[in-house]
Amino acid sequence: MEFDFDLFVIGGGSGGVRAARVAAAGGAKVGLAEESRLGGTCVIRGCVPKKLMVFASGYREAMGEAVDYGWDVSMGEFDWSKFSPRLNGELDRLEGVYQKLLTNSGVETFASRATIADAHTVALADGTRKTAKHILVATGGRPVRPTEDFDTDLAMVSDDIFHMDKLPKSILIVGGGFIACEFACIMHGLGVEVTLFYRGAQVLRGFDDEARGLVADMMSARGITIKTGTNIADMQKAKAGVSVTDTHGDTSEFEAVLYATGRAPNTEGLGLENVDVEVGRRGEIIVDDYSQTGQASIYAIGDVTNRVNLTPVAIREGMAFVETVFNGNPTPVDHELIPSAVFTQPELGTVGMSEEEAREAGPVDIYSTSFKPMQQSFIGREDRVLMKLVVCKDTDVVLGCHIVAPAAGEMIQLAGIAVKMKATKAQFDQVCAVHPTMSEELVTMKTPVRSA
Ligand code: NDP
Repeated sequence: MEFDFDLFVIGGGSGGVRAARVAAAGGAKVGLAEESRLGGTCVIRGCVPKKLMVFASGYREAMGEAVDYGWDVSMGEFDWSKFSPRLNGELDRLEGVYQKLLTNSGVETFASRATIADAHTVALADGTRKTAKHILVATGGRPVRPTEDFDTDLAMVSDDIFHMDKLPKSILIVGGGFIACEFACIMHGLGVEVTLFYRGAQVLRGFDDEARGLVADMMSARGITIKTGTNIADMQKAKAGVSVTDTHGDTSEFEAVLYATGRAPNTEGLGLENVDVEVGRRGEIIVDDYSQTGQASIYAIGDVTNRVNLTPVAIREGMAFVETVFNGNPTPVDHELIPSAVFTQPELGTVGMSEEEAREAGPVDIYSTSFKPMQQSFIGREDRVLMKLVVCKDTDVVLGCHIVAPAAGEMIQLAGIAVKMKATKAQFDQVCAVHPTMSEELVTMKTPVRSA
């Protein structure tokens, strides 16, 4: 049977673009449809603009420290109207880069929504149909706004943050995950008064308890008000923002409210009912180890499959898909021991098992040290950092590494290599320390602080 394309990709985010251009570079005829902007969540409304805001928000503290180090710095106000056009300009530039990468690889792009009509056909918004031997769904996810009795549209979701006309004076952030904690720190750094409501007992559920406890302490110490065991009970429009009544009955006004209450896979209205593709409870596409759905010609990668929702993982899934389908080399994606970072201030870098997970699995030795870093301690700051290794008592293999510190994201990338290689604690200790650094503690901790 003749098809218009060897591969048609739905979704032009990190995973879809990578799969499309690698397949095209290998000689496949590839089409790609994106209904919004090329680059997807990571580039347009996620990792990239977020990280630029993290940088912007870090200068206030850095300037304060500079003054204490002896610099003559006059602290001004952050001007969103200066930053925002520059941010948008950068996103336009990156979108252009993505378009160029696709065009130069020979991928035909369609600025259109695409839905699945049958196992080999996608329908574009203008009514045209394209056939393809393989269809790859890479439609990502979207922020979830909880359904409540009150008007939740009074609040923003993370997509909206990048399009604010001006910075609010105060913000309430709801949620305790990656996005809630990162934006709490960003907003605080930019000079906004931040309150965070989290329904559970401690933010960053699922991360190592000691690490998330320290991040929460450091956030509070910086002046972020964290209210745990708290949610919104009612929300009303107020003169200068939103009036919020919490689940304890207290009412306060905020200029803005942000729901950071999780993300859901983008499968709604995708036409999956027309094919033999199974969808899970959260709307995610169910795939096997090779990202193949129940319909042999249809594959799915990235956040739409709700496996590990991180950009580099989606990219790897895209590469493995091309390797499997176009290079005749069946390649499963390895989802074990993926390092990641939460870009709070200080950052949390993590790879492998938390102490709590490891204790469940077997006997462990915990090497952990929390101390005042030299740079801040010199000027009398109370900041603390954490370096922690979770080690298997039987094999001496390092099962997990958790770092809370400035630039922990950079550190965990490197520590992740050793953990992925299943290095033992003895091998960590064979490495000479780089002195004076914070991370040298990872190779100098001699005695476990506890064993279990
Ligand atoms: P998360 O799933 O990490 O966190 C959602 C938070 O919202 C949780 O604290 C959850 O509470 C809470 N929540 C959920 N529903 C409600 C509700 N109805 N009312 C009140 N609270 C609620 O989602 P995020 O949106 O923060 O991030 C989504 C994903 O994006 C992450 O899991 C991650 O994979 C990715 N990401 C990665 C980043 C990075 O690598 N640095 C940065 C940003 C996002 P509870 O804990 O009780 O479930």
